[in-house]
Amino acid sequence: MRPLAELPADEARGLTGLLFDLDDTVLDHGALTQPAYDALWNLSRAGLRLVAVTGRPSGWGEVIARQWPVDGVVTENGAVALAREGHAVRRDDEADEATRRSRRIRLAQVVATMQETFPEARLSDDTHARLTDVALDIGESQRVPADVVARMEAKARALGVRTFLSTVHLHLTLERHDKASGTLAWLGARFGDDPTAARFRWAFAGDSGNDAACFSAFATTFGVANVRASLAQLPVPPRWVATAERGAGFAEIAARLLAARA
Ligand SMILES: [Mg+2]
Repeated sequence: MRPLAELPADEARGLTGLLFDLDDTVLDHGALTQPAYDALWNLSRAGLRLVAVTGRPSGWGEVIARQWPVDGVVTENGAVALAREGHAVRRDDEADEATRRSRRIRLAQVVATMQETFPEARLSDDTHARLTDVALDIGESQRVPADVVARMEAKARALGVRTFLSTVHLHLTLERHDKASGTLAWLGARFGDDPTAARFRWAFAGDSGNDAACFSAFATTFGVANVRASLAQLPVPPRWVATAERGAGFAEIAARLLAARA
């Protein structure tokens, strides 16, 4: 990882937009600070497209797509995307309702089996707003030790589901996408972006394990300073790193991008 200050101007000028994670990248322990929100508005006014890419529920994505200065929100680790269309919000989900129902039953069975072994396996309080996955709370309203999280993850995989790990949740899913593939597929469908070109035209900012696919896929990648705590889960670290953590780090990334493009 190199200091943000070394980001070359021509690399910054070649970008169409910025993809960004929410928890512990833009948000500080779940809260949106004024510097982080100002940074989003500054990027938007400068003409950069903005797309949030999060493990949070599609129900949250509907609100964010409606209210924030963004062009879209990819939610549930790549499975469902939302975008404002006039006064409505469009939802892109590749599965039909019958598939959603059967996958939900299967995930509930997996969670019930896990709870027989792990009393810590509690559903996150945002699970009701999810369409495709379930999230176990490992760092939001309770702190589950890392070794227990690792055993929970191994158990879930043995039961046949995919897992993603953020700083707050262990996600269990039956979807085929991760944050990178889901985002690239959606950018193609929504903006006509060629997936290979999009890897150079869109930058990504993130902080933790469920950002691994995006740190690997995109050419210009940023970490907020707290990404250092998750480097063991990132086969490819971000190329550029901020000195500040969370929302302040995101504001630093935005300021550097805008200065380099000016
Ligand atoms: Mg995060």
